[in-house]
Amino acid sequence: MSVGIRSFHGNTVRNQGVERNFTLYRGGAALVFRRSAREAAKVNLGKDVLEANLELVRRGLVLYTFGNASGISRDEGLVAIKPSGVPYEKLRPEDMVVTDLDGNVVEGSLRPSSDLATHLELYKAFPRIGGVVHTHSEFATAWAQARKPVPCFGTTHADYFRGAIPVTKPMGPEDIAGDYEKNTGAAILTLFRKIDYERIPAVLVANHGPFAWGADAAAAAHNAVILEQVARVAYRTVAINSGATEIGPELHDKHFLRKHGAKAYYGQEK
Ligand SMILES: [Zn+2]
Repeated sequence: MSVGIRSFHGNTVRNQGVERNFTLYRGGAALVFRRSAREAAKVNLGKDVLEANLELVRRGLVLYTFGNASGISRDEGLVAIKPSGVPYEKLRPEDMVVTDLDGNVVEGSLRPSSDLATHLELYKAFPRIGGVVHTHSEFATAWAQARKPVPCFGTTHADYFRGAIPVTKPMGPEDIAGDYEKNTGAAILTLFRKIDYERIPAVLVANHGPFAWGADAAAAAHNAVILEQVARVAYRTVAINSGATEIGPELHDKHFLRKHGAKAYYGQEK
C-alpha cells in the first residue's frame, strides 16, 4: 500500500503503471460525478418546473393547455419547459422537456412548448433569472391587448415592480412571418434595453399577453400571479376613477426597496 501511495506522488519508472491507474480512476470518478450532477439537475428542474406550471392552474391563470413555465440550470446549461399541448392534470415531472440553450432537446419524448424560443431569448439576455412564465391571464392580457402599460397605482404593485409594467411594440409582418417566437423575445429585449429586468420582472407582449420571470421557476410563477392581481386591481382603479394617478415616488420606493436590494428589511432574515 505504501508503494502505491508513494507512486502517486513520486514518478519512478517502477510505479508509472500504478500512477496511470490512479489517474484513470480519478478521471472516471470525475466523469461519474459530472454525469450524476447533470442527472440530478434534470430531475430537480423537472419537479420545479412542473410545480410552477401547476401553480398557474391553481391560481386561475391558465385555461386548458394555455401557458407555460420553464426553469434553467445555469451550471448545466439545461432548460426544462412544459411540453406542448398536454393537459396539466396528466403532466408528470419526467414529462418536462429538457433542452440546451439552443433549444435542442436533450431529454424527453414530447415536443417542448411552442414558446420555448421566447424563453431562451430571455435566459440568454437576463443572466440572473432562473425561471420564465407565460400566460394569457385575463387582466394582464386585457392590458396587453389594449397596448397600455399597467400603471403603478398602489403599494401591492410597488412591492414587486418598480414602475409600470411595460408593453412591447407591435411586431411587424416580417417578424411574425419569420422566427415568430424568437422575435417575440427580441421585442421584449428591445423594450428592456432601458429597463432593469430585476426591477420589473414582467412584460406585456402587445396584442398577446404577459411574460414574467424570477430567480427560479417558482418565483417566475409567483410574479405572474402578482402581475395578474395588480392588472386586475389597476383595471378596477381606472373603472372607479378614470383620472386616477400613479403612486408617488416616495411611497413607491419605500415599498419596493423594503423588499428588494441591499437595504431590504421585509420578511425574515435569509
Ligand atoms: Zn401566448
